[in-house]
Amino acid sequence: MAIHRRDFLRGIVAAGGAYAFRGFVPSRAWAAKRFPAGVWGGNVPTWCHDLVRDGGRIPQVAPSRSVDFLILGGGLAGLSAAYKLRDTSMLLLEHLDRVGGHCVRDRWNDIWFAGASAYFVEPEPPLDEFYAELAFPLRQIAEPADSAILGWNSVVDVFGAGLENLPYPDAVRRDFARARKDFAAILESDDCPVMPLAETSEASKQYDSMSFADWMLHEKKYHPAVKAYVDLYCRSAFGAPGSENLSAFAGLNFYVSEFGARYTFPGGNALAAELLRDAIHAAGSGRILSATTAVQVEDRGGKVIVTAIDPHGEPIAIEAGAVLVACPKYVAKHIVKGLPQDQIAAMDGLAYGSYVVANVLCTSPVTDGSYDTWTDVAPFTDVLIADWITREEGNQPSSKHQVLTVYYPTGYEIDSLLDDDAYDRYRDTVVRHLDYLYPGAEAKIEDVKLYRWGHALCHASPGWYTRTSPLAARPFGRVLFAHSDNQGLPAFEAALVEGISAAAQAKALLAP
Ligand SMILES: Cc1cc2nc3c(=O)[nH]c(=O)nc-3n(C[C@H](O)[C@H](O)[C@H](O)COP(=O)(O)OP(=O)(O)OC[C@H]3O[C@@H](n4cnc5c(N)ncnc54)[C@H](O)[C@@H]3O)c2cc1C
Repeated sequence: MAIHRRDFLRGIVAAGGAYAFRGFVPSRAWAAKRFPAGVWGGNVPTWCHDLVRDGGRIPQVAPSRSVDFLILGGGLAGLSAAYKLRDTSMLLLEHLDRVGGHCVRDRWNDIWFAGASAYFVEPEPPLDEFYAELAFPLRQIAEPADSAILGWNSVVDVFGAGLENLPYPDAVRRDFARARKDFAAILESDDCPVMPLAETSEASKQYDSMSFADWMLHEKKYHPAVKAYVDLYCRSAFGAPGSENLSAFAGLNFYVSEFGARYTFPGGNALAAELLRDAIHAAGSGRILSATTAVQVEDRGGKVIVTAIDPHGEPIAIEAGAVLVACPKYVAKHIVKGLPQDQIAAMDGLAYGSYVVANVLCTSPVTDGSYDTWTDVAPFTDVLIADWITREEGNQPSSKHQVLTVYYPTGYEIDSLLDDDAYDRYRDTVVRHLDYLYPGAEAKIEDVKLYRWGHALCHASPGWYTRTSPLAARPFGRVLFAHSDNQGLPAFEAALVEGISAAAQAKALLAP
C-alpha cells in the first residue's frame, strides 16, 4: 500500500532524501492540537552534573553505615548484582526515585507501555536459567514483528515476505535478500561476534577491525539502500548517528540476533527489573536507597568509602568491603578516585547517544500492522504498538485504546533536550509526523508522555571491543564495574550478565 503524503512533506523528501540522520532537533511546536502541559519522565542530571561532572566540592562526612557490598546504580545490572548478593550485608544506591534505569514502564487505562527498553532476544546460557529462576513470564513477539514505511511505501516483513515489495529496483532488492542470508548465516555460525569477550571466537574478532558501514559497503558491497535501512537500527538500538560510528563487531552482534525469536513482557523489559527489585525486598527490606546519588568512591585500602547525596540533599558516607559500580562509565570515571589514566582513556572510548521516547496515548487504534514499524520519512526511527503482545487471539487490539511507543534517538545532541520548551517541541513533532505516517492519527491522540534519556546508549568504534573493553571494565582494588557498558553493548542481556558476573567477583574478593 502506498501512503499518501502531504504536499508539505513532498518538499522535504525531495530536498533531503528523507531523514538521513542529521541530529534532527525539532525547531518549533508544529502540532495544531493543544495538549496538557507535560512533565519529562526518564533521567535527570541534578548532582550528576553539579558535583560529579563539573567537579564540585565533595562534602566530607564520617561513614554512618558499614556493609560488605555496596552497589551504585539500580538499573538491570545493579539489580541483578543485588539479587545475587541478596543474602549478604548489601546496599544499593540509585540516583533516580525508582529503580530500573532504562527498564521502566507506566500504564494508561489497561495498557502498559515502556519508558525505554522494549524487548530481548532468544535466551541462552547462563541467562536461560536465570530467567527460569526468577520465573520471568516472557512472551514471544508474534509476527509480523517488523514492518517499514520506506519512502512512503509500506512494507511488512522487510527481510522476509516483504522483500518483493521494497520500493527499489530489482538489483537493490537482491542485495537485501543477500544481506538477509548473510545475517542469518552469521547468527548460526561459530564465529558470530559475542560478548563477554572471553566467549567470542578468534575469527569473530576480525569484525572489530572495521566499522559496520565499511563491512556493509566495502566488505559485502551491499547497495547503500541496505546500509540506509540498517542505519535506522543503529540509531535506534545504539544511539549512534549511523553505522559509521560503530564497530562491525557490535553492529553484527546486535543485528543478526534480530533474525531469531524476540521476547518481551507487558510494557517492555521493565518487568524484569521489577521482579528483581521484589526478590531483593523479599530477602530483606530497606536495602535499596533511591533518590540517592553516589558522588565519590575512595578505596582506602581494606575499606571503600562512598560519599553520596541523600534524597534531602544531605551528604552521607557509607563504608563497604567492596563496591560494585553499576552506573555508566561517564559517571564512573568521575566518581572513582584515583583511576589510572589508561583506564579513563578506555572509558572515554565509549560514545553515548541520547534519546527521547514518546508514548502516544490514542483513544482508538491508529495502526495495526506489526509490533515495530521502521521509517525513513520521519525524524524518529520506529514506532511500537505497546500492547502487541497482550492482545487477544489473532492479534486483534484488546481494547479500544492504543499506545504507540515512538523511538526518537537524538544522537550526540543533548543540550536541546534540556531547553524549557523541549517537551512541547518533541511532543508536537511526534504528533505531526505520526499524522503524516498514519493520516488522521492526530485526532485520535489524547496525550503524549515523553521520556528523556541523556547519554542513554553506549557504542564504540573499531578496536574498542576486542582491545579496549577489558581495560575499561578492569577491577580497581575493591571497586568492581558492573554496568552493561562493560561490554559496550546497550542490551538487556549485557546488563544482566555484567551484574551477575560482578556479584560473583565481589563475593570472591571478600571470601576468607
Ligand atoms: C530508549 C531505550 C530503548 C532501549 N531498548 C532496548 C531493547 O529493546 N532491548 C535491549 O536489550 N536493550 C534496550 N535498551 C538498552 C537496555 O535497556 C540497557 O542496556 C539496560 O537496561 C542497561 O542496564 P544497566 O543497569 O547496565 O544501566 P542503566 O539502565 O543505565 O542503569 C544505571 C543506573 O545507575 C543510576 N546511576 C547513574 N549514576 C548514578 C550515581 N552517581 N549514583 C547512583 N546511581 C546512579 C542510573 O540512574 C540508572 O538507574 C534500551 C535503552 C534505551 C535508553
